[in-house]
Amino acid sequence: MTIIEAIKYTKEILNKHNKQEHEAEILIGHVLNKDKLYLYCNPDEKLTDEQKSKLENALSQRISGRPLQYIIGYWEFYGNKFLVKEGVLIPRPDTEVLVEKALELIKDIKCPRIIDIGCGSGAISISIAKERDGSQVFAVDIEDVPLELTKQNAILNKVDDRVKVVKSNLLSAFDENSFESFDLIVSNPPYIKDEEIATLMDEVRKFEPITALSGGVDGLYFYREITSQSKKFLKKGGFIAYEIGHNQGEEVKTILYQNGFDEIKLYKDYAGLDRVVTALWQGK
Ligand code: GLN
Repeated sequence: MTIIEAIKYTKEILNKHNKQEHEAEILIGHVLNKDKLYLYCNPDEKLTDEQKSKLENALSQRISGRPLQYIIGYWEFYGNKFLVKEGVLIPRPDTEVLVEKALELIKDIKCPRIIDIGCGSGAISISIAKERDGSQVFAVDIEDVPLELTKQNAILNKVDDRVKVVKSNLLSAFDENSFESFDLIVSNPPYIKDEEIATLMDEVRKFEPITALSGGVDGLYFYREITSQSKKFLKKGGFIAYEIGHNQGEEVKTILYQNGFDEIKLYKDYAGLDRVVTALWQGK
């Protein structure tokens, strides 16, 4: 089987199982360890037996519903490559808006100190560190897999000197009496309501970590906790930036308002849905 035949064959199988055809080039590229351009520049190259069986294996995993990103083991976010595996949420394009807004908030702050709560693959922490020279990011998670992966991804993206992983239940591992306060607390916390978990796409519900998705009965548990805990750690003039579910804008704004935050702003994602809330802490 040649590369071009493999692409055609893989597309047919994906199609038959209601998966997106364009995943074929990604799967074959992964098996051959080559990019898409190589595949189309070398259409007549033959796959070895080992490559054929690797492709069959990857394809059957994909058909069984395992997300493409976990099969190939990496994904791109904010123009950078991140290793991903079961145990961390797959970085989503929606979250790039959060990174964009976070970077805007800290653009005039010298050597900003940042905490990212629930770091997962490290996509947010590392993208911020990479875009912003002199920043220092504390990537927090309660689970070991995300902390380990964030460490690896920080090395891969050459920001391991400025991204420090901290095992912590939200902010419990930080010392509120220390003088080391922060300019920004950023988070894409779990925000799906308990009753909505069952309605998530199979691929999400069966393969991605429920701990990264479930935000309690009303989906707002983590916004309440992080907002009230953050006040002890933010500098006067520091910010909070959250990713939110598309219908949580008003509720999250209310939580921030009730906790004494100012300049509360809501932003949309590329699909036109409410996705990010930011707020200023004036120190009350
Ligand atoms: N956007 C994710 C989803 O709908 C949820 C992410 C989260 O809970 N933080 O699958």
